[in-house]
Amino acid sequence: MNKRRYTCIVCGRSFPEGQGIIITRAGITLAFHSKSCLAKFFRLFVERLDEKEFRRAARDVIKELEEIRKARLRQKVI
Ligand SMILES: [Zn+2]
Repeated sequence: MNKRRYTCIVCGRSFPEGQGIIITRAGITLAFHSKSCLAKFFRLFVERLDEKEFRRAARDVIKELEEIRKARLRQKVI
């Protein structure tokens, strides 16, 4: 079986499909071999985003994650 290989865009390490973190959007594939490489990219990426768009997206994701946390708490009560 020939698994597809990816190259980490942060450190250049090569890794097989099923490992690492792959994000594809708008025709761009971002491949990270580890969470620490993803975190490094994320910090640089956030600095370059339009502030308005960043604020909107950040609030939206924070709200979504809060709701997931609340739903989990409710499940524990029952
Ligand atoms: Zn890496």
